[in-house]
Amino acid sequence: MPAIDERQAHGWTIRIDRTLCVGFGDCVEAAPDAFDLDAESVAIFIDPGTVDAETLRRACEICPVDALMILDTKGQQIVP
Ligand code: SF4
Repeated sequence: MPAIDERQAHGWTIRIDRTLCVGFGDCVEAAPDAFDLDAESVAIFIDPGTVDAETLRRACEICPVDALMILDTKGQQIVP
């Protein structure tokens, strides 16, 4: 599993920086269809494209250590 993982959803690029994740699972609670924790309690993607944009955005914003990032279609960082 790469340290930085990305998926496309809703025209955004969603990025997990696994080196920052502290594994409390706030993102998983907020969007269980988008994120899960692996065996080391580090966030991984499930299928963020199946989660509505607002829920996905909130799940990324909730990360206490800014391990989840959203880039818009122009590559501008909109979360955090
Ligand atoms: S909310 Fe952030 S720190 Fe917590 S599990 Fe998700 S990515 Fe990791």
